[in-house]
Amino acid sequence: KLYNQVQDLKGSIRVYCRVRPFLPGQTSVLTTVDHIEDSTISIATPSKYSKEGRKSFTFNKVFGPSASQEAVFADTQPLIRSVLDGYNVCIFAYGQTGSGKTFTMMGPNELTEESLGVNYRALSDLFHLSNIRNSSLDGINVPEATLVPVSTTSDVISLMNLGQKNRAVSATAMNDRSSRSHSCLTVHVQGRDLTSGATLRGSMHLVDLAGSERVDKSEVTGDRLKEAQYINKSLSALGDVIASLSQKNNHIPYRNSKLTQLLQDALGGQAKTLMFIHISPELETLGETLSTLKFAERVA
Ligand code: ADP
Ligand code: MG
Repeated sequence: KLYNQVQDLKGSIRVYCRVRPFLPGQTSVLTTVDHIEDSTISIATPSKYSKEGRKSFTFNKVFGPSASQEAVFADTQPLIRSVLDGYNVCIFAYGQTGSGKTFTMMGPNELTEESLGVNYRALSDLFHLSNIRNSSLDGINVPEATLVPVSTTSDVISLMNLGQKNRAVSATAMNDRSSRSHSCLTVHVQGRDLTSGATLRGSMHLVDLAGSERVDKSEVTGDRLKEAQYINKSLSALGDVIASLSQKNNHIPYRNSKLTQLLQDALGGQAKTLMFIHISPELETLGETLSTLKFAERVA
């Protein structure tokens, strides 16, 4: 193995939960978050949801509102390094619009070195670990995608910026710039085991999913409604695939959505998956927060 520092991961699927802080100007807003501790989050709920008035969820890790990008990446890095051992790594950011998915993956709009997200950190980590040489990229076939050889982190950043511009953005009642599309950055890495000389092929898929919020049918019609139904369908298909993988089922329902079909190779076999779920802290998002936590509980 090229890199042995990969900690032995219990299963191949891990779930991290991140709660974003209140935004500037939101000082006296009520919160749903009752308590956060290492790997447990408890949500304060009205009696309608639970008798005790709170409900707890346990994941591999829970990051509170003050967790830095650096701290979040520190727990992601071992997974990224396993790409060099020939694993397919998939990292998903899941959550309702405004919960911090893009912040985790890319960072805020105004990027500083401290605020760089997982994408940038992962790429510069891979580039620092290997003396990258461009080589032919064969056996890779994703329809409607462009494969571009890269040799530095800044090549990748320019590509990512282009991808962001092409990403469909449209107005919804919830957020006038909400992302109604999945955004996926894939990096293929080919290396040679220095001891045996064997070729190792690994890949890394970093996926900023479309907002998971349920759309009120009374508010959207036509194409917008179709789009919303499409998104909900692909997210639940993704949940089904990950849940079947974590239960080690024989049949994995990849074919139920385009998203899971495209990621089929990356989600089975030599694969490691990390689902980053995102929580908004405001009380008014309680319904979506609970539905996100239940989605995550199912795939964990
Ligand atoms: P999403 O991609 O899920 O729609 P964003 O990542 O765009 O959400 O986050 C919504 C807003 O909250 C943005 O202004 C973002 O910069 C801010 N934000 C999200 N997460 C954090 C965080 N952990 N710390 C500080 N600001 C955050
Ligand atoms: Mg976003």
